[in-house]
Amino acid sequence: MTHLMRVLVATLLCASSTAVAMAGTSYKISCQNEKCGFKGAVDFGGGFKFEQITGYCTQCRKFVYLQWPREEKGKDSPKTKPKPIGLIWDATAGHTRELYVCPHCKKAFFPILSEKELRFCPNCGQESLKLQMRLLYD
Ligand SMILES: [Zn+2]
Ligand SMILES: [Zn+2]
Repeated sequence: MTHLMRVLVATLLCASSTAVAMAGTSYKISCQNEKCGFKGAVDFGGGFKFEQITGYCTQCRKFVYLQWPREEKGKDSPKTKPKPIGLIWDATAGHTRELYVCPHCKKAFFPILSEKELRFCPNCGQESLKLQMRLLYD
């Protein structure tokens, strides 16, 4: 990747995370590799009432979500943002990422920050994923 492309990608990620803070987005995903045929759906972002971390759990072989209510001012919410179980250095992206625990199997998963990061099929590992926006919700 050239330096210019990296800057572009970073700008796109910033732009999308601002949008995600306002509304969540759901995507229908399908693998274009005919031998694979992986299909699924994935949500990014939260709504007005909750926030969300999206990730793919390799143990459960599915997309997993951590959700917590948005903090209300002047009120201590019993459920707050989950604590990461560790930090890892993502050499391909050049920054540190938090690892979270899968709510189903309690193994660690790596959050996907935006749909733009979702290019590789979790089933066959090819760069063959097609994303189709399904709906916007609040
Ligand atoms: Zn899991
Ligand atoms: Zn695939």
